[in-house]
Amino acid sequence: MISGSTRVAAVIGSPVQHSLSPALHNAGFRQLGLDWVYVALEVQPGDAHVALQAMRTFGLGGLSVTMPHKEAVALAVDELDPAATALQSVNTVVPAADGRLVGHSTDGAGFIASLAAHGVDVAGRSVCLLGAGGAARAISDALARAGAGRIAVVNRTFSTAQHTVALAGGVGVIGAAGDIRDADIVVNATSIGMGSDDIPCDAALLRAGQVVADIVYHPRDTALLRAARAAGATTVDGLAMLVHQAVLQQVLWHGARPDPAVMAAAAERELAARHQ
Ligand code: NAP
Repeated sequence: MISGSTRVAAVIGSPVQHSLSPALHNAGFRQLGLDWVYVALEVQPGDAHVALQAMRTFGLGGLSVTMPHKEAVALAVDELDPAATALQSVNTVVPAADGRLVGHSTDGAGFIASLAAHGVDVAGRSVCLLGAGGAARAISDALARAGAGRIAVVNRTFSTAQHTVALAGGVGVIGAAGDIRDADIVVNATSIGMGSDDIPCDAALLRAGQVVADIVYHPRDTALLRAARAAGATTVDGLAMLVHQAVLQQVLWHGARPDPAVMAAAAERELAARHQ
């Protein structure tokens, strides 16, 4: 029931109408019994600073930020958390009590939390990270913060791979195919497999004893994850990262932790409704 005191949170992006965030967050608010509602707002490229001003004017309780505004919001908020500072990218804005807007990046920490929820601790482990785009950079930064022992970055474009390696600090290296076979944990952070059966690496390199995580979440069970299971590896799907980064957003906005299983079920229902 929306009332005069309902807090409003939103995601800004363009295009934004296919965002899963409203399904995830509204399920979380309902499960926690909070009088909050979450909506998707189309904000044109170049208008992120106007949207932040509107956030202040309307007193929004929290804001998610998606493409193409993550970098512009990082420049426009009053303060950045350490991950957002390293990435110069913001996916979450939190209004502080004194009116300042604080930018956070929960993607990388959400990825680490998705592994932890599957009993996987990255500390001291060797990781092969496929991809070097925005999501891969967040994951590289978070893996290094979580104490990964080695992060080998494999990417089509060398210059972006170098940037992603730099975010891994002293444990980052440019990787090659052999790193996929040797790694304890293989992560697909490319967009390969999104809406297709394409696979981002030679499946023959995957092996038993590995953890293979795919951040692509449509389809949920990607060709990479199927190949990894066939090779005897343990798998973690991309919906887990999406859900856990959203859980972290809610903790930042109102302090309570929604149940990830409830949010995942809502996202699955939404995806099923769209693709039936
Ligand atoms: P992005 O910045 O556009 O980066 C795309 C990455 O994929 C780059 O490394 C790119 O390589 C690589 N790539 C794309 N097509 C390729 C191809 N045909 N061959 C080889 N490499 C290819 O995208 P992003 O924001 O990082 O997102 C990547 C994927 O993760 C998307 O599918 C997105 O939906 C998903 N994602 C999931 C979550 C989650 O919570 N589960 C969060 C964020 C993103 P180059 O550098 O060579 O172009």
